[in-house]
Amino acid sequence: MTQNLYRRKTCRYCDEPLGEPFLDLGSQPLANNLPRKEDRDKPEFHCPLAVVKCSKCHLVQLTHSVPASLMFDEYLYVSSTTQTFRTHFAGYAEDVKRRLVKKERSLAVDIGSNDGLLVSCYHKAGMNGVGVEPAKNLAAEANRQGIKTLNRYFDAETVREIIKDHGKADAVSANNVFAHIDDIQSVVRNVRELLADDGFFVIEFAYLVTMLEKMFFDMIYHEHVCYIGVTALNFFTDRFGMEIFDITEVGTHGGSLRVFIQKKGGPCSRTPNVARLLQEEKEKGCLQERVYRDFGNRVMDFKKNLGGMIQNIKKQGKTLSGYGAPAKASTIVNFCGLTPKEIDYIVDDNPLKQGRLVPGSKIPIVPSAHLNAHPTDYVLIFAWNFATEIISKISPLRNRGVQFIVPLPEPKTV
Ligand SMILES: [Zn+2]
Repeated sequence: MTQNLYRRKTCRYCDEPLGEPFLDLGSQPLANNLPRKEDRDKPEFHCPLAVVKCSKCHLVQLTHSVPASLMFDEYLYVSSTTQTFRTHFAGYAEDVKRRLVKKERSLAVDIGSNDGLLVSCYHKAGMNGVGVEPAKNLAAEANRQGIKTLNRYFDAETVREIIKDHGKADAVSANNVFAHIDDIQSVVRNVRELLADDGFFVIEFAYLVTMLEKMFFDMIYHEHVCYIGVTALNFFTDRFGMEIFDITEVGTHGGSLRVFIQKKGGPCSRTPNVARLLQEEKEKGCLQERVYRDFGNRVMDFKKNLGGMIQNIKKQGKTLSGYGAPAKASTIVNFCGLTPKEIDYIVDDNPLKQGRLVPGSKIPIVPSAHLNAHPTDYVLIFAWNFATEIISKISPLRNRGVQFIVPLPEPKTV
């Protein structure tokens, strides 16, 4: 039923009719809706998970749109969980502050502010920070900690309320959420409305080209609607009276872009980085179909390789667990058809996830202490973007004969 019900007919950036997907990961459950143990036997929502490239603006996007209310009312991803992110957002807030035209009493609004980590960094950097977060549990927690957060979607009414209470914004930020919002055209219209004429919009997202080159197909899940390259974003911002004026490359999620956008004719001049990345995307074939078809084929090979590796482990009577239960773990596990028969458990340091199950596969999620108490012969590191942090933390297990597997770009024992 969901096949037709949620099928997206037109491009989210340019309204061009969409063609056929270049990669189909099958019908999958929602990666961030982790069932509780007691709900093990309740049916889960499933929807096709496939990606298509727009032939006009080249935006890579999902073929289906799952209603936001099914995904974001209770959200278990908390950005403050890792030291890596705390350091990252402190630097991010300083970067925003440095670029502000108006230095005194400046207002920075963060859309999809999660547990308020970046908003608190705006405060620390001397700006007035306001967060907008639709997930009730996260907004409530942020407000409890004194981080001003509006618990609502970022819509025209929210913008009016912010302007009434605080005036126009000098900076508006949207990090991974920019790729997570289905109706992104209205978001950009609203951001434009909220911004002062000399203000800027800054977004950070996992970069399409990194995903293609490093095989990070596990970034594909229903909440992650768009896979953004500079070509598509440049087209999109232009359409809404905005322009990209600078881009920096950052390490988050294995390779992300931080893009600065202003109203057309704004105060900042365009840096050479913008033209360079546009040219690079052209040279790498991102405007053509072949690159995407190759990627799709390599993903199918990955499934065979990881499946073969796990089959061998099991044949030898060895055990396997997983480390990290981010959304991308759900994509790999469900795409490869892994179950508690193959993976005994997955550990995760986020207490909100412990005691729950990986969607679809129903693999139990447990605290990391469990791995020490009941080590398996192999540990598959799903949170590969924190692989260094994780491996150094669990390296004493090596003395007990435990081996670690990093799944991407291709599965290997490290
Ligand atoms: Zn398009």
